[in-house]
Amino acid sequence: MADYELTLAHLYGNLLNTYGDNGNLLVLQYLAKKMGIQLDTEIVSIHEKFDPTKYDLVFFGGGQDFEQLIVSEDIQNKKADLTDYIENDGIMLAICGGYQLLGHYYMGANGEKIKGIGALDHYTLSQENNRFIGDIVIHNEEFNETYYGFENHNGRTFLGQGEKPLGKIVEGKGNNGEDQTEGVIYRNVYGSYFHGPILARNEKLAYRLLKTALEKKYGSVVIPTLTEIA
Ligand code: GLN
Repeated sequence: MADYELTLAHLYGNLLNTYGDNGNLLVLQYLAKKMGIQLDTEIVSIHEKFDPTKYDLVFFGGGQDFEQLIVSEDIQNKKADLTDYIENDGIMLAICGGYQLLGHYYMGANGEKIKGIGALDHYTLSQENNRFIGDIVIHNEEFNETYYGFENHNGRTFLGQGEKPLGKIVEGKGNNGEDQTEGVIYRNVYGSYFHGPILARNEKLAYRLLKTALEKKYGSVVIPTLTEIA
């Protein structure tokens, strides 16, 4: 019997799953089990309502411009509920395309403006005939944690009000190749360009997501440390 129960919404899980992003769910399941958590996951996709009171965690993966365009239209209907969830300190991990759609807009590779929900204050430009592809290493000073991954994106994202980067670039390009930032942290939302999937190489981040979700739901909790289980 699990000690705790968490419910995760996999936003557009049947449409957005680039470069193995869904593997993040496997990592969360693996860790959750060791932490005494029963983690129930369900896909919330197009034409379905996102209920902000139902979920303890949200995962939002990346996608190609085509899928992003479809999601961009549908997600406008979920904008209010997703914003509520975020402003109420809901826990979320958003990768690449998902990360872009939480912001104001993303300029697609063909110059089309793909609208986001503006729940976070960033925006994303495109770059001509170029993508940022390769290994990436970043450091988060606040947590004193280093994260390792692989990036592959056309978009160049610029952070806005209230947004902190997930980390500072040690190696690679990150958000835009200019300001040495990668990803975002806003309240309990974590965004990143890391594929691969991010949580498989960064168990500290996976643990942080689950722990934060547990504490939000249950208050103080008794769980093993990461070193005891990883
Ligand atoms: N289409 C977006 C970009 O290239 C996102 C791609 C992705 O999710 N990998 O920036």
